[in-house]
Formats: sequence, structure tokens, C-alpha cells
Amino acid sequence: MSSIIQLLPDHVANQIAAGEVVQRPASVVKELLENAVDAKATDIKLIIKDAGKSLVQVIDNGVGMTVTDARLCFARHATSKIRLAEDLFSLGTKGFRGEALASIAAIAHMELKTKQDQDELGTHIIIEGSKFVSQEVAVLPKGTSFAVKNLFFNIPARRNFLKSDTVEFRHVMDEFQRVALAHPNIHFSFYHNGSELYNLPASGYRQRIVGIMSGKTNEKLVPVNEDTEIINIQGFVCKPEFAKKNRGEQFFFVNDRFIKSGYLHHAVMSAYDGLLKDGSQPSYFLYLQVPPNTIDINIHPTKTEIKFDDEQALYAILRASIKHSLGQFNVAPVLDFDRDANLDTPYHYKDMEAEVPTIQVDGTFNPFTDDKTNQHYSKASSGTSSSYSSGSSSSGSGSSYSGSSYSGYSKRVEPTASWESLYVGLDTENPESIESSPFTFENEEVTSSLFNDDEVEQATQKTYQIHKKYIVSPIKSGMVIVDQQRAHQRILYEQFLLNMTVNQAASQQLLFPLDLFYSASEMKLIEELKPSLATTGFVFDESKIDHVVISGIPVNITESEVPLVIEQLLSDLQDGIPANSYSQNDTIAKSMAKSLAVKTGSYLTEKEQDNLVNGLFACKDPNISPFQKPTFITMRVEDIDKKFAL
Ligand code: ADP
Ligand code: MG
Repeated sequence: MSSIIQLLPDHVANQIAAGEVVQRPASVVKELLENAVDAKATDIKLIIKDAGKSLVQVIDNGVGMTVTDARLCFARHATSKIRLAEDLFSLGTKGFRGEALASIAAIAHMELKTKQDQDELGTHIIIEGSKFVSQEVAVLPKGTSFAVKNLFFNIPARRNFLKSDTVEFRHVMDEFQRVALAHPNIHFSFYHNGSELYNLPASGYRQRIVGIMSGKTNEKLVPVNEDTEIINIQGFVCKPEFAKKNRGEQFFFVNDRFIKSGYLHHAVMSAYDGLLKDGSQPSYFLYLQVPPNTIDINIHPTKTEIKFDDEQALYAILRASIKHSLGQFNVAPVLDFDRDANLDTPYHYKDMEAEVPTIQVDGTFNPFTDDKTNQHYSKASSGTSSSYSSGSSSSGSGSSYSGSSYSGYSKRVEPTASWESLYVGLDTENPESIESSPFTFENEEVTSSLFNDDEVEQATQKTYQIHKKYIVSPIKSGMVIVDQQRAHQRILYEQFLLNMTVNQAASQQLLFPLDLFYSASEMKLIEELKPSLATTGFVFDESKIDHVVISGIPVNITESEVPLVIEQLLSDLQDGIPANSYSQNDTIAKSMAKSLAVKTGSYLTEKEQDNLVNGLFACKDPNISPFQKPTFITMRVEDIDKKFAL
């Protein structure tokens, strides 16, 4: 039998290697930026189109290449960065595999222009799918430009596998930020579809971090500096009160290379021990320098993982130096006597009026009566007392709202103001509020109590919820059945509209500003909506290109609802924002009412039911929801009589 093993042709081998090196446009961005840094450039431009899918170009003013090198750089295992295996242990460059350009050239259309300083003329090469298309001598400035077009043009499966522009852009942005943060001494600029996103002059670490993150970052940073024999640590950590909900701003750089390390992350987190609100994440930008021979970066082809010789020692040093910095800059609580008490209070409570505690004395309590009745009684009594005290607090918070945020409104608004308290207690995720509620028809125990002594007390309840969908309430002529979701939509809709037109909405300040990420087109929409949203109580900090920072929200919504509200708005407005301000406000009010209204299936406490019914009938137009559906029906006693007559 003849032998069957063959060596793969280069272009096939390169395509296979490309699978590992190039996953998406962001991988090309990373490789080209790193090559430019390795070429000792002091000015690097990144230009992309369509999130990098149609173009990734990097232009640098680095050392450039000779004609021979320009040709050779596309060959596999062609590198100027190492010569001997030993060199691997003293790496001072990003690249060393000599694989990137060969891989990219195998799966894209690529154009190289390069010239060395001392040469008169440069080289211009076009290569497509590993095939050289042209090579010319050209007049060029010093440095190198690589343009990568039509990524995966010859691998449709890979091309189809790419995510939306928003997602791919996010990855490109991540790579750009990592390289730019690692090299503040290099001038970086970044253009997407013709517009400049970043222009970062050469500077120090702090300025670079602020340039990339936002102007506000500066005041949040605490410097960290530590120099020992095995490691030099520089950089910044964020003051604990500015910790965020997500892990977006956590960076480790080892020898100027961005790396991920769960172990070192843990060291940082443990330095913050006791200083962070549950689940919140401090931003950090930490630059570690270690002798190159004590690390092994040769673990993963895309090289964000790293192995250290003495991980435990690094852990301890990192933790201690951050702890020291947090203490020294007066941010550890031990030293923090004049801290604003409000910071420790959940914002729900911050705005509530103080209440004089009341003691409920059960006058009929008799320890000698039989245990069972006693237990039952105290249960019912705790029920009534809770409904009593919540009644008083609801009028309390109602008046505090009308006193502060709603002053100046006509009287008619006042009952509406009292349903504000609907939200204060409306915490469907909190099982306690459900348990403490006195009436649940599903609950056998309580139903049976209808036939007990306290029946009279319970009869004072005016509303009942059925099927977590309708609120039934007796009225003079019979009863009214309210659709809870539609009723709430009406209430919210009128309230938002009133706020937007009278411009009086109160807002609650968030302890931790919310960062919400959106695509460029969504950001554009949000920018246009901002003035209207501000009138509902939203407070926006300066936005970045790809996210909004929200530091205040309307009083009647919770922080966790904010992303939903905005998502809903964006989808309601995807066909464009109405031109006139009346219909713009109307659309926004409708959309917010839709996302915020209690849904069918939500349990409502008695107080919430009450507020809902009162709120609805205080509306201008209580009969229909903002979406033109009936909000309630009535049933007269005669109608009921008729049913029984059958
Ligand atoms: P590696 O970076 O691992 O060496 P690459 O395939 O990325 O492999 O690059 C191959 C070689 O091409 C590099 O070693 C370098 O000599 C040369 N090169 C690549 N990009 C540039 C650039 N922007 N300026 C100068 N030389 C470059
Ligand atoms: Mg490289």
C-alpha cells in the first residue's frame, strides 16, 4: 500500500491556524495594535468600519519593514522577536509566535504599506487568502499600515458566526482599551465609520485611565504603589463607595500586557473586605512588573492567561498594598467618622418620614384561655394592626410627597399622590410583605377566621384581589371590578404625562450610578430622549460613547426596573421619535407606564389594592387604559340579584 501522509500546503495550514488566532474582528485589532507597539510606534491609529467586519486598519509610525521583511512577515513562524528557545524566557514583546499575519492573510484581503526611516521608498503589498496579488515600491511616510478587509471572505461559516455589529464593536472596544491602557506613553486614536471615538495623547497612567473611562473617574481613584524584589505594583483602585454593579472596569497588566487572573482578582477583593456593598465591584487598573523569566505567558494562543512562579507571594503583596492605599487615603471605615449617614441607608428609607413608634396593646389577651384561640387571635390581630399601621404610614408618606415634590399642584392631584406609596411597599420579590398581609383567599386558615369574632374588623376591608388579576370592591350600587394592570397603566401614564408637561418630577439619587451599555444607534436615540426623560425624574451623568450613566431615577421606580424601562422605550421608539413634543411625551409616558405597571399575576397587599382603586378614580380618564382598553367594569346589585333568581 502506498503512503498516505502529506504535508499540508501552507495556505491550508494558515487557514487552520487562523481558526485559533482570529475569532472575530477584535482579534485582528489586538494583533495589529500589538505589532505596532512592538514596532516602537509613538503614534497609533485604529480605523474600523462596520464593527471591523469590513475594515480594520492600524497605522503606526514605528520602525517599519524592509522589502524582504514586508514579504516575509506573512509567512508562518516568521518573527523578528525571538531567535532561540531561550528568548522565550526573557520576552519583552507582545508577539513572538510569528503566526498572526500569516493567519489573518489566509482569511481576509490584506494591504500592507511600510517604510523604514532610513529608506527613500517603501513597500506596498496586497495579499488575499494567502495569495500575493501585487507588490510595488511606493512613496510612504515612516512606519507601517495594515488594512484588513472582508474578514472570513473565504470561510462563510465563520463569517456567519460573527455576532451583531453591537457585540463585535464591544469586543473591538475592549481590545483597544486594553492596549491603550497598557501604553499611556503612546498616542492612540480610534475611528469607527468615520467618526473619532478616542484621541488619547501620550500621558501617564492616571490621565490615560481618565481619558478612557470618563472625566468623573479621576476623583474615584486611589493610587497604589509598591516596589519589592519580586514585583513592582503601580496603578489605581477605586474608592469603595464608587464600586459598580458590573465587572467592566477591572484591569490587570503584567509587563504591559493585559491579563486575566481570577487569583489576583481575589487578592484585590479581599483587600476591600468589609468595604463593599454586597455584590458590588470595585474598578481597578493595576500595572504589575515582574522579571520576564518568572512568568510563562505561553499558555493560550490569545494570551490573556498567565502563570507566575510565586503566585502566593504576589497575592499577599498585592492585597497588602491595596489595603494600605485604601487606608492611607482615608477610605477605610475605621478612619471615617464623618461619613454621611445617608450612605448607609437604603435609598427607599432615606426619603421616608420618621414615624413615632406605636405599641399595639392587645386588650383582650388572656394567657389562660386555650392555646389555639389565643394563637389564632394574635394572628388576626397582627393582621389588623399591620393594616392599620400601614394605613397611617400610607397617608403619612402621601402627605410627605404632596408636601415636597408635588407642592404647587392643584388639590385634585393629592389623591393621586397617595398612590405613590403603592410602590414603596410593592416589593413582590419580598416574601415578607406577602406573609404579613392579612388577607389571602388561598389561605385556608384566614378564610376560616371569617366566622370568628374578629369578623367585624375584617369586614372593614374594602377591596379584594382575585386571581392576582382583578381588584373587586363594593360600591353603593353593587361592585366594581378593576383590571389591576390596566388601571395601573392609566395611573402611571397620567402621572408621567403630568410630570413631563409641568416639569416637576422628583428624583431619587442612586448610591451607585448605573452604567447601561447600548449600541451606537441606541445611544443616539437615548441622547434625543434625554430631555424628556429628565422631566420624569431621570438624572443622567455625562455619557460615554457606548453607555449611559444614570445617577438619579424617578421616585416611583426601582433601580432594577431601569434597564427594562429603557429597553422598552428603545423598542417602542425604534421607528423613530415622534416629531412634535406632545406625541413624544405621550409615547414615552405610555411606554414607561407599560413597563412599570404591576402585571397580571402580581400579588397586591390590601393597601396596594386600595391605593390602586383610589388612584384610578382620581385619574382624569379612569375608564380606559392608555392603550384604549377598559380598566374596570361595574356590576349592579340588580345584576347579581338576577343571577340568583335563576
Ligand atoms: P509576531 O508578532 O508574533 O512576531 P506577526 O505575524 O504578528 O508575528 O508579525 C510578524 C513579523 O512582522 C513581526 O515579528 C515583525 O517583525 C513584523 N511586523 C509586524 N507588524 C509590524 C509593524 N507594525 N511594524 C513593523 N514590523 C512589523
Ligand atoms: Mg504579532
